Amino acid sequence: MHILVVEDDPRLGRVLKRLLEEDRHVVDLATDGETGLDLAESDGIEVVILDVGLPDISGIEVARRLRTRGVETSILMLTARDTVRDRVAGLDAGADDYLVKPFAYEELAARLRALGRRAEPGPRRPESRLEVGPIALDEADRRVTVGGTTVDLSPREFALMECFLRHPGQALTRDQLLDQAWPYSAAVTPNAVDAYVHYLRTKLGDAGSRVETVRGVGYRLSDA
Ligand code: CA
Repeated sequence: MHILVVEDDPRLGRVLKRLLEEDRHVVDLATDGETGLDLAESDGIEVVILDVGLPDISGIEVARRLRTRGVETSILMLTARDTVRDRVAGLDAGADDYLVKPFAYEELAARLRALGRRAEPGPRRPESRLEVGPIALDEADRRVTVGGTTVDLSPREFALMECFLRHPGQALTRDQLLDQAWPYSAAVTPNAVDAYVHYLRTKLGDAGSRVETVRGVGYRLSDA
């Protein structure tokens, strides 16, 4: 998933980014509320991890403004204090969930999986597994298998695969794929998408033909 972390504590921000990237998420980091607000409004961000205590505008205010502007991206609030009033303020401002600092990374990862499922169209998927034909992505292990055998994907290939599996049968433009599978901080052109789709197809073996070219649009993962 493409995740935006808005956290002003440099150490926590760095650690979160590293752990999330080790889990093969695509991560952008903002260290103040205004920058976070700008980035959160861009296409492609699927979850915002939002600290309440920020140097300029509070996380509560960031969430409130995003919802006022009609941005529906999932928000996971990080709060330093576990008081009923703080939690209610965050949820009232439009956060979907919250975590009290300090927290275990595993708990954050589990909340993110739940938020990711909530953000998908269609009926709610109970299991932490994305599956199309022989291709499966275990969201807890952060592993892709084809016919039960693990496929060794680079972080970018993995991000593309996850993006396709979250939108089975749907034609995705190069820009959509770029927004979801690359951080905004990366300077890339849509041509990069073609190159990585090619690598991904090769690594998927026979199942690679499921990644279809949609002429004039982009690519689609066939679920037929
Ligand atoms: Ca803070």
